Amino acid sequence: MDSASAANSWKIFDEVKPDLKPKEVMEEANRCLFCFDAPCMKACPTHIDVPSFIKKITTGNMKGSARVIMDANPVAATCARVCPTEELCEGACVLNDASLPIMIGDLQRHTMNWAMKNNPQLFEAGEPNGKKVAVIGGGPAGLSAARELARFGYQVTIFEKKEKAGGLDTFGIVPFRLPQHVALWEVEQVKKLGVTIQTNTEVGVDVSIQSILDDYDAVLLAIGMADVPPIGIPGEDLDGVLDAIQLIERVKDGHVTERFVGKKAVVIGAGNTAIDAATCLKRLGADRVQILYRRSEEEMTAYPFEFSFAKEEGIEFRWQTQPKAIEGDSDGKVASVVCAPMMLGEKDASGRRRPIEIDNAPFTIDTDVVVKAIGQTRYLPLIEAFGLAHAHGVVTVDPLTYQTSNPKVFAAGDVIFGSGKGEAMVVAAAEQGKKTAQAIHEQQLSKI
Ligand code: SF4
Repeated sequence: MDSASAANSWKIFDEVKPDLKPKEVMEEANRCLFCFDAPCMKACPTHIDVPSFIKKITTGNMKGSARVIMDANPVAATCARVCPTEELCEGACVLNDASLPIMIGDLQRHTMNWAMKNNPQLFEAGEPNGKKVAVIGGGPAGLSAARELARFGYQVTIFEKKEKAGGLDTFGIVPFRLPQHVALWEVEQVKKLGVTIQTNTEVGVDVSIQSILDDYDAVLLAIGMADVPPIGIPGEDLDGVLDAIQLIERVKDGHVTERFVGKKAVVIGAGNTAIDAATCLKRLGADRVQILYRRSEEEMTAYPFEFSFAKEEGIEFRWQTQPKAIEGDSDGKVASVVCAPMMLGEKDASGRRRPIEIDNAPFTIDTDVVVKAIGQTRYLPLIEAFGLAHAHGVVTVDPLTYQTSNPKVFAAGDVIFGSGKGEAMVVAAAEQGKKTAQAIHEQQLSKI
């Protein structure tokens, strides 16, 4: 990459979707019917009062609009960019039947952009109640819970392993969909309420689990998920085999790498992370990027808008293709992937048709890079060190209170999600954080 291209590298990570122009904002806001019992509000996992925030846009009350949105969703600037709105609020809009749904996500983004620019104090911390809560993990679930607990008057400390809080929002979603500064602004809003965030602090390493359990009135485990697991095929240790989560994290944190220019790449998996990794590689200069998936388009877990975006970016999809081995050259670098074609059988426990290998029909795809994006492992040692009941690393909780098998410990976010689309929903984690804060508050009130 020459210097001009290197300078350009920041442009390729600018947000793909432009903001609405002021005139478009007013036209769109004035199209809203401000429905009584609005279905869009019900369809939002955090139940943002959509007609109220849109009405406030029309009257120029931008602070009021931001308050309505963030009262319901402490990570609303992120959600305005990453929510699958066509499946949520916009999918429920009554105008779907008549014309086009209101662009709720874009209007929310407009309000949140105003808030990020003007930085008003939207909320205050509650009267101190003398109780302390430890939140382990500073991602969307942890931040949401911490914000609510601070408003209830708790002294909250977030223990964050990385050097910045924000979790998935800060490190795990490609910058051209969610710039890092958006997530960090949301972190600052939580800090403004007096929440302490101890970064570079790993619970179980830098702080003992026992001291957390002893020193705090309640604990929230919101640690998310870990790296991509091994695929379990020969050649995974070759130079050029990468973990999708680590790749996106490096790109998101500004470590733009030039190593993919002109290269061929394959991404294994077809979830949202796989799409993010594939589009990253393309924007980093890869010549050809193919996504390999052992099932068909129908079974892929990526959101439809992610799939459309990938196709627009020139990503190719090879359905019913199972990698069997990664082959290297004499220097130990990736050279190709040996694959088997698959057919689909009966539905399995996940409700999706089971892929079955077609015998004796292997084929080879030449590639320089292989990116693994087949899900994420769990922080099992930490979950077990807390002594919590779990199923394969998914912490077991009461579905209403998010209380774990230890009554003092609650859990929210990806650490309690099973497999499926829900894992990528920042908005679901935000709602769980709110509900967990409420449950902790009720538990503490019951002790008075
Ligand atoms: Fe407005 Fe549509 Fe929601 Fe009705 S359903 S309040 S029209 S966004």
